Amino acid sequence: MKIGLVTYTPEKVDGFDLHVYYSKRADGSVFPAAKEMQNDITCFCDAKAIREDPSIVAVSKNGLALRNNRKINVPFDFVCPTNPEYREKVLDYVEGLSRENVEGVTLNLYHFPEEEFCVCPRCVELWRQSGLNWTEWRAQEITGFLREARSLVKGAFAVEMFPDPVLAKERFGIDFDHIAELVDYFHVPLSSRDYLTNYWADTLARDFLKTLKKPVVVELSAEMPTDEKLDALLKTVAYLSRHKLMSVLLLVHDSANAKQVCRYAVHKGDFREWLKKCEFTEMMRIVDNWAKLY
Ligand SMILES: [Zn+2]
Repeated sequence: MKIGLVTYTPEKVDGFDLHVYYSKRADGSVFPAAKEMQNDITCFCDAKAIREDPSIVAVSKNGLALRNNRKINVPFDFVCPTNPEYREKVLDYVEGLSRENVEGVTLNLYHFPEEEFCVCPRCVELWRQSGLNWTEWRAQEITGFLREARSLVKGAFAVEMFPDPVLAKERFGIDFDHIAELVDYFHVPLSSRDYLTNYWADTLARDFLKTLKKPVVVELSAEMPTDEKLDALLKTVAYLSRHKLMSVLLLVHDSANAKQVCRYAVHKGDFREWLKKCEFTEMMRIVDNWAKLY
């Protein structure tokens, strides 16, 4: 199993095999390509673009796909995925990044906000013309967008998803089987403020490994300020290392944060003894490597 980072700063850190950088983010900020890294692009969540042109937001019978709409529960503000101008803008950005010396491109939030979206006049018209049912039409739109993006990317191509292995197609238009034909791997974020309770991370990792027909990487949040939380995080990584994951990725603010995790694993508490006692051989190999560096 590889160990990697997801980060907000375009810098690689020793001791990690895979580096994912957020180059286009949900608040609308856009950054130059991070060289020799996997660049993560937020597609249809763009708070800034919606502020500038509110007509591009996705629509439902419960109102708009905005965080401040209390009738729904969405974590970001979503642009309608069939908006041709906005789609073009995202694809232009994907194409521009791919011309740089990047490792590859990961797409994030490339789907509908929820099952009841989007019923803007354009989406309703496209759905009618398609002759498909609601679920199939929405899935076809999203897979079509990913196919177009994929054709622009030279390196590794991956997608993130909301971590729902059961209802992804109905809710978001994410059709795992068709998307598997396009991607090199799937990136499953299992974000949390802490992993003091971790059975759900283990369960979802198993479910996704069984469901997805391509390699899987799992992302855990590692912006942990306390020893107790770092300990729980590292033990969760150890349990995940027993599955057939391609990689576990740790979400950090920057390289100092990443090194803090490594130093804790190497020096603090009885973590290395615990790994040995419980025979986590794969995780021991990773921490032994960190011990040479930190
Ligand atoms: Zn729409």
